[in-house]
Amino acid sequence: MISWKRTIECGLVDEKLLGKEVTLNGWVARRRDHGGLIFIDLRDRTGLMQIVFNPDFNKDVHAQAHSLRSEFVLSVTGKVVNRAKETVNEKMPTGKWEIQVEKLTILNESKTLPFPLDESEVIEEELRLRYRYLDLRKFSMQQRLAMRSMVTFAMREFFLTKGFFEIETPILTKNTPEGAREFLVPSRINQGSFYALPQSPQIYKQLLMAGGMERYFQVARCFRDEDLRADRQPEFTQLDVEMSFVEQDDVRAVIEQMFVHVFKKVFNIDITLPFPTLTYDQAFGVYGSDKPDLRYGMIIHEVSHLFAGTELSFLKAVLDKGGKVGAIRVEDKEFTRSELDGWVNKAQELGSKGLLYVRWSKDGILESPVAKFLPADFFEQASKQFKDLKKTDTLFFIAGPYKAAWETLGRFRCAMAESLKMINPHIINLCWIVDFPLFEYDEETKSFNSMHHPFTTPQEGWQTLKPEEMKAQAYDIVCNGMELGGGSIRIHNREKQAKIFELLGLTKEETDDKFGFLLEALEYGFPPHGGIALGIDRMLMILTGSSSIREVIAFPKNQRGYDPMMQAPTPADPKNLKECGIAIVKKDKK
Ligand code: ASP
Repeated sequence: MISWKRTIECGLVDEKLLGKEVTLNGWVARRRDHGGLIFIDLRDRTGLMQIVFNPDFNKDVHAQAHSLRSEFVLSVTGKVVNRAKETVNEKMPTGKWEIQVEKLTILNESKTLPFPLDESEVIEEELRLRYRYLDLRKFSMQQRLAMRSMVTFAMREFFLTKGFFEIETPILTKNTPEGAREFLVPSRINQGSFYALPQSPQIYKQLLMAGGMERYFQVARCFRDEDLRADRQPEFTQLDVEMSFVEQDDVRAVIEQMFVHVFKKVFNIDITLPFPTLTYDQAFGVYGSDKPDLRYGMIIHEVSHLFAGTELSFLKAVLDKGGKVGAIRVEDKEFTRSELDGWVNKAQELGSKGLLYVRWSKDGILESPVAKFLPADFFEQASKQFKDLKKTDTLFFIAGPYKAAWETLGRFRCAMAESLKMINPHIINLCWIVDFPLFEYDEETKSFNSMHHPFTTPQEGWQTLKPEEMKAQAYDIVCNGMELGGGSIRIHNREKQAKIFELLGLTKEETDDKFGFLLEALEYGFPPHGGIALGIDRMLMILTGSSSIREVIAFPKNQRGYDPMMQAPTPADPKNLKECGIAIVKKDKK
């Protein structure tokens, strides 16, 4: 008896098998009936293979094939033969051959799918997530998950051959304020107490260094109870790394080499080292962002001096208050009036109070809503700032307090580059941003927060500086305008760590309660150490050119943190709640 088990996969059938009998397993992707013949494209994860049911060849099997519908699961046995010349499909890797079916086993039937698996059809995402197991049958999803698997394999291969240990850290842990809000898990045994799901293995990996592990990595699941955006999920995966006896350069060099390995292994691409490095101040000054997209120029120029002594009341007020004027130059582009109005609105949408523009008519006359306030030699003055300024260029100006104005200019730059199609989606541009401020001031709570996390070492000389002036031994890796990850050299001295907690406004009691174990560990020969974590989902999203990280996660939550397939989260069973000592307080309906 012929077994139903495959002897070869659909996409792997080739010339060498011509005339041989094979058994294929797969799904009915497409069915066509032609002059008595039934053609089916059989699909498995390697590709498609055409199978033919011919009544002249095998009447019974042909009769059996009448019942076949889309997504039925089949086993077919037959000979590999050449297709008739006119039916050869050059676009299909197996398009020269077909299987003349001699035996058919229907392994399972399928109802009509709620949506077609045709890649060209746009299906509402909620429906895709509701039936994710069907959505996963698409080649595009399978390819992305295959790439994900190859990337994590290459990462593991790299670290394991460099002497790193892969060590798992707990998922049920303690709430440790690193910055993000954590998910809580009630403890049944210790009623009234809660575990937190780790927002990252940060403290554990530091404690692994205290434990003498020296080189650690983990493909780690992390959880953050944050508001969701296109590139955020409540649970996500990080490549987490920590090393002892290192300085910043060592950690960065290891990550660069890892990228070299992964790109070579997965894409056969050689990447050049080292990655460009910008300080936080440089990046912010030139790109208005600490995650600059370096695939295009159009940098921000500080041009406050061009408006010194201006009569324009708005600009004068900004400059008098110590604000700045920044400009972006768009080269050789003739904007229509309505396009310019559109950009004024866009700048407002992006957070600016106003956008000024200056351009020149075909006869070289300056055109701007504020033309009469600008000096006659504005072009000459501006030419000193903008090398090779041309009268076919347009200048856009935004003024305000430095941070706010530059952030808006940064967003404006991105929006403009996108609109002018200046971004090459095929380029992967990696860079480092270093010398971050140690703290950022929160106007709302009137307190300082760690820019990275509270375990980050300040740079030399911090003791004599004000908190807002202190810099961190921290670094981010940025790819195409997105933060891929970040890390830092950690504090390994108890007094220093206690002082940082104090600057963050934690009382001694709070510090002891939340971080007592860490401070204690710091007294037992904690080695100098540092590390980094990279977002694997985001990395895959960039590498696969996807629009959201949900495209590279097998079972993601939707944008409301809900899983439409499992229908999670759900209200808990009252019995379970009682066991945990929890009562639900109903929210008043407003
Ligand atoms: N734990 C940090 C994070 O998740 C990364 C690090 O400092 O290694 O962002």
